[in-house]
Amino acid sequence: MKRAAPALEAALAQLERSQLRRVRTTVEGCPAHSRALIIAGGRELIDFSSNDYLGLAHHPSLAAAMSACAARTGAGSGASHLITGHGSEHALLEEELAAYTGRERALLFSTGYMANLAVMTALSARGECVLLDRLCHASLIDGARLSGATLRRYRHADADSAARLLAGERGAALIATDGVFSMDGDLAPLPQLARLAQRAGAWLVVDDAHGLGVVGASGRGVLEHFGLSSHAVPVLVGTLGKAFGSFGAFVAGDADLIEFLIQKARTYIYTTALPQPVAAATRAALALVQAESWRRERLQALTAYFRRAALEAGVPLGPSATPIQPVLLGSAAAALAAQRELAQAGFWVVAIRPPTVPAGSARLRVTLSALHTEPQLDALAGQLAHACRRERSSAA
Ligand SMILES: *Cc1c(COP(=O)(O)O)cnc(C)c1O
Repeated sequence: MKRAAPALEAALAQLERSQLRRVRTTVEGCPAHSRALIIAGGRELIDFSSNDYLGLAHHPSLAAAMSACAARTGAGSGASHLITGHGSEHALLEEELAAYTGRERALLFSTGYMANLAVMTALSARGECVLLDRLCHASLIDGARLSGATLRRYRHADADSAARLLAGERGAALIATDGVFSMDGDLAPLPQLARLAQRAGAWLVVDDAHGLGVVGASGRGVLEHFGLSSHAVPVLVGTLGKAFGSFGAFVAGDADLIEFLIQKARTYIYTTALPQPVAAATRAALALVQAESWRRERLQALTAYFRRAALEAGVPLGPSATPIQPVLLGSAAAALAAQRELAQAGFWVVAIRPPTVPAGSARLRVTLSALHTEPQLDALAGQLAHACRRERSSAA
């Protein structure tokens, strides 16, 4: 142990020098459930970094469902789902998620990371080929590596690039992609990928962590947006810690897929079941997501409003039409400086640096919530424009 310490110290110092060391900020409170504010360092900041798109994470209905369930079931589930950890809240939530996504069955996981490891390792193996988008989430990459399959990365959101890679392989077991890309906010070319997967006889896995609850006419995600059936996209992964404001994840698909995952997925079998109170909170969230469409509509209106304000102020935004609105700054140092400047002015917008994004594409990742207001967005746009101007003049 002792001998390794100097190496760790050197590695940490290197991260510090290259502006890549990450620090956690302790959030001391959220002053009002109906406003996107946090308290950190004793100051109130407008939160433009959480994935709580619909403003549900602090909603009293979720907290009430959670504590009522805890009084009934206790805090912990005590064992894995296959031993004695599977409770009635899990079963009900799975039925409701299957109905919500229009699929035969859904299977709960403790996290999206684990759900992605599950599908990737259960559906591909050594000797097969897995195709992934260059910018897809780390958990899909780790799952592909763990499966032992040959991993090929195609150009971002480019189905032709995927087709060219596929032509050089004997066959693909699986193509996987984010639905909405988590750091860019753009959408995967799913109709083209679905055709490619069908022609190749490969599985298509879509991780719609940032689309569910947000994208599509009724908020059912990228598959609804593109009008794709469960035949076109047989494996759908959703997470519950983002738009649903709770915690956990699920895989939705036909009955055989789900049964196979229950039998084979190691991140399902060898882990303690999610606490039932968390599932109860998610059920409350799912009811609100469906009953209160104003949250989604408001989020869409605010996204359009922010884009107009920011572009008019000269902020270089990408093409995203979702609540994920990155402002590319290039170097890690520039992104960190902009983060500090915005925090000074009362805006909590976190810099995203490599390896989360490719080298040279460090950015501020602005995320919008249904709880923001137009004056907050105007103020943010002005401050971002200021930070970008300052960055350009210091680079020149
Ligand atoms: C957040 C995220 C995950 C991980 O989900 P957790 O439930 O937070 O583990 C997986 N995929 C994508 C695209 C994500 O953005």
